[in-house]
Amino acid sequence: MEQYDVIVIGAGNGGLAAAATLAEKGKRVILFERHNIPGGCGSSFRRGRFEFEIALHQLSHMGTPENPGPLREQFARYGILDEIDWIEIKELFRVNFPDGTGVSLPADREKCVAHLCKEFPAEAEAIKEYFKVVYDFCDESTAFAAQSAKSTGEPGALKKLIMKTGFPRIYPTLAKYALKSTQEVLDEFFKDPKLQLALSAYWCFMGMPPERFPFAILAKCTYFYTETKPHYLRGTSMMMNQAIMEAVGRMGGVVRLNCGVKRIVLENGAAVGVVDENGVEYRAKKIISNISPLTTYGALLAPEEVPESAREYLKPYTVGISALTCFIGLDCTPEEIGFTTSFTLNYESLDANKDFRDAYQLLPDHDPLVATCYTVDDPSVSPPGTSIITAGTLKYSAEWEKLTPEQYYEMKYEAGRRIVARLEKMYPGFTEHIEEMEIATPLTHMRYLNHPGGAIYGYEQDRMQSVFFFPAESKIPNLEFASGWVTSCGFGPNYQYADGVASKIAAEV
Ligand SMILES: Cc1cc2nc3c(=O)[nH]c(=O)nc-3n(C[C@H](O)[C@H](O)[C@H](O)COP(=O)(O)OP(=O)(O)OC[C@H]3O[C@@H](n4cnc5c(N)ncnc54)[C@H](O)[C@@H]3O)c2cc1C
Repeated sequence: MEQYDVIVIGAGNGGLAAAATLAEKGKRVILFERHNIPGGCGSSFRRGRFEFEIALHQLSHMGTPENPGPLREQFARYGILDEIDWIEIKELFRVNFPDGTGVSLPADREKCVAHLCKEFPAEAEAIKEYFKVVYDFCDESTAFAAQSAKSTGEPGALKKLIMKTGFPRIYPTLAKYALKSTQEVLDEFFKDPKLQLALSAYWCFMGMPPERFPFAILAKCTYFYTETKPHYLRGTSMMMNQAIMEAVGRMGGVVRLNCGVKRIVLENGAAVGVVDENGVEYRAKKIISNISPLTTYGALLAPEEVPESAREYLKPYTVGISALTCFIGLDCTPEEIGFTTSFTLNYESLDANKDFRDAYQLLPDHDPLVATCYTVDDPSVSPPGTSIITAGTLKYSAEWEKLTPEQYYEMKYEAGRRIVARLEKMYPGFTEHIEEMEIATPLTHMRYLNHPGGAIYGYEQDRMQSVFFFPAESKIPNLEFASGWVTSCGFGPNYQYADGVASKIAAEV
């Protein structure tokens, strides 16, 4: 039986980073991935002459060569930094309103504040104050995290500390806003609904509408994307994940693609190994799961092996949202069709909370539409004179799961037609330039990721299920989690979190 220090289940961003860090630290690590390519959400596929990005709109935490962010340093350690062409995106995003107007936010604090003050002069003072709160909040939460890292390390320490007397004095902004929703904070600062929409656009990166989206996450997204600059990379996120996978091998780790884990082996209630889908058993001192805790406990263990404490612990958490995405290859340049900003959020009304309710419906009629034209920042992502656009909405899987195979096929293409019709209204002539189109539904994500509900951001990320309350604790000795289900979702946060988990484990095994 093969023996390792650590076994990693799943080669999504978190699994890859965990395996790379362990290999870098000289540990014997093996990584299992059920798909034939690495990356999970972070990968690509081809149709005709186009290669489509599946997930990444913007990579956070990179920073610039002059002012490197944590991810740049992590990738340098893996030896992949110079293998990839990183593309700095100059605008955070553009929000398009239903009356045809819109606002674009530069990826720079001063320029962003100045631009918004010009667009919304009546609220200039509030804009300046809001940005100060966002930055103070992030500085204080970084200081708080550093402080609590020095504390006992007891799992609930962070949660307890936040309630402690004295906390509001040391971290006043954090104490005031930590548990507020985005909508509550926007209402405190601003009157104009357009300004509110412009400043809250990152809610769509976590799949929670402003009334449920934690301000803590919005503040961090705004801060990190502005300070470390949004990035894309030449060749899709697949390039980055392929490079990390190769780094794992180069540093002595083992990667098994096309080889899912079927079962976790327990002895005396502790994880000691896994059995792969071919029935081969492997042993290790620690197991890291890059898949959901629900699937880990529910599918990789027998019901009688799952501790009651795990069921109780996960009870309050609800499975998050999935997505409905059209991947479109156009036979024209972005300028010809009117795309000027790579990442746009398009509203059907000025009430994002109301529009979001359509996420529970099958078809994408009113849901805010996220459209990314990758060719704006990098014309080489597609053949000369063409463009790649992904346009989609966030959708829960329930209605999709009710369809028969025939209905599914019909509804998938109907959904695609409706998204194209909405794009045609915004960019007249769009439809006649479509050369290739593919559609992914919540069921597609379910199939490729093996996640309940086809969830793309893990558990629902609302105030009581995220930030200070992520279900990161494992209830089985020697089993740990590193995925978007147990930390802030997204590429940057996930790579970093897994790096931390792996570093801790490396010191133990
Ligand atoms: C449409 C879309 C847009 C997004 N946009 C952005 C963005 O712009 N910026 C950003 O930062 N984030 C974005 N995200 C979110 C980001 O992609 C995810 O948060 C992140 O990729 C999740 O990574 P993960 O480590 O949790 O692994 P996942 O991507 O969930 O991968 C899990 C892996 O485990 C494998 N697996 C499952 N079961 C088994 C098993 N039994 N054995 C072995 N392997 C198994 C799966 O095949 C998969 O490869 C987006 C996601 C989507 C889908």
